Amino acid sequence: MATRRINVGSVPIGGGAPVSIQSMTNTRTEDVHATVEQIKRLEKAGCDIVRVAVPTMEAAGAIRAVKDAVSVPVVADIHFDYRLAVAAAEAGADKIRINPGNIGGEKNVRAVAEACRAAGVPIRIGINGGSLEKPLLAKYGGVTPEAMVESARAQAAMLERFGFENICISLTASDVRTTVAANRLAAAPADYPLHIGLTEAGAGDSALMKASAAVGALLIDGIGDTLRVSLTDDPVKEVETARKLLRVLGLRGGVNIVACPTCGRTQIDLFSLYREVEAGLAGLDRDVTVAVMGCAVNGPGEAAEADYGVAGGREWGILFKKGREIARLPESELARALIALVSEDTYGEKVL
Ligand code: SF4
Repeated sequence: MATRRINVGSVPIGGGAPVSIQSMTNTRTEDVHATVEQIKRLEKAGCDIVRVAVPTMEAAGAIRAVKDAVSVPVVADIHFDYRLAVAAAEAGADKIRINPGNIGGEKNVRAVAEACRAAGVPIRIGINGGSLEKPLLAKYGGVTPEAMVESARAQAAMLERFGFENICISLTASDVRTTVAANRLAAAPADYPLHIGLTEAGAGDSALMKASAAVGALLIDGIGDTLRVSLTDDPVKEVETARKLLRVLGLRGGVNIVACPTCGRTQIDLFSLYREVEAGLAGLDRDVTVAVMGCAVNGPGEAAEADYGVAGGREWGILFKKGREIARLPESELARALIALVSEDTYGEKVL
C-alpha cells in the first residue's frame, strides 16, 4: 500500500523504502555502557532502528550519550509522562513512540508535538490492544480491530490539529487475527506508514509461528513499512528472525537454503549436512538459493530452481548448479565444497 515517507534518522520508512527492521533493548537505558553494547550487537545482526525504554529523566538524558556511540537511529519509548518525551526529543532521539491516549490530554500531546517538530523527528502512535481507552472497549465490547483503528485515527487527528503530520502508526495485539485485521483496516484509507508486529508473542517455536503468521500475512498484502518481531528472548534473535522473514518473502536478499524433507530414498545424513551448510553460509552477503538434497537421482531435478546445491548418494554425492551436475565428491567433502563454491573462494574452484 502506498504510504507517505517519514525519516527516522538516516532510515526512511514508507513511500516505497525497503521494509526496515527494528528491535528494542532490554537493558536499563540509564546504563549507557550496557545499552550501547547491546545496540552494537543489534547493529551487527542487521537491525536498522533500535528503540530504548525511557521510564525516567535519567534515561531520557542518557539518549545523548547512547547516540554518540552508535550508528543506528534511536527511538525513545515513552508511557504516561509527556515530559519524558519532550526531554528525549531534546536529547536527540530520532523518533518518539507514545500512546497519546495515555499521556494526559491534548495539552501534553501538543507539548510533545512541539518538541518533535523543533527536533525534526517523527512520532509513532503506538496502539496496543492491551491499553485501549475504556470508552472504546465499551463501545466495541472489547479489543477489536475497529476499536484499535478508531483509537489510532483519533490520536492521529489530535496531532494533525496541531499541524503535526510526521507520523507513523502501529496497531499491535497479542492475537494474530486481531493484529492482521486491525492493520488491514488501518491500511485501506490511511497513508501514514505502518509499523507492524505482534506483541507478547512469547518465545520458542510458537512465538516464531505467531509472529510469522501475523507479519507474513500483512507483508504479502503489501502492508507494513517497518517491523519488529517481538520475542521473549535476546533482542538479537528478533533481528535474525525478522531478516529471515523478509528474506523468505523476497523483501531482502541473502542466502536462501532449501532442503528436501528426506524420504526412503535418502542415502546420506542429510540433517547433519544441512546444519553444516547452514552454519557455513551464515552471514554471507550474497543473494543466492542453495539446495541440500537427500538423493542424487531426484535431488538436482527437484531443486532445479536453486543456484547451487548438493545431493547425497551412498558415501558420495554431487555438487550441482542450476540442476546440472558439476562435480562428484565423497560425502565428507560435500558441505565444505558447497560452502566454498557459494562463498566463491579458491577451494570451490579447486574441487571443480
Ligand atoms: S530429494 Fe531424494 S531423498 Fe530427498 S525427498 Fe526427494 S526423492 Fe527423497
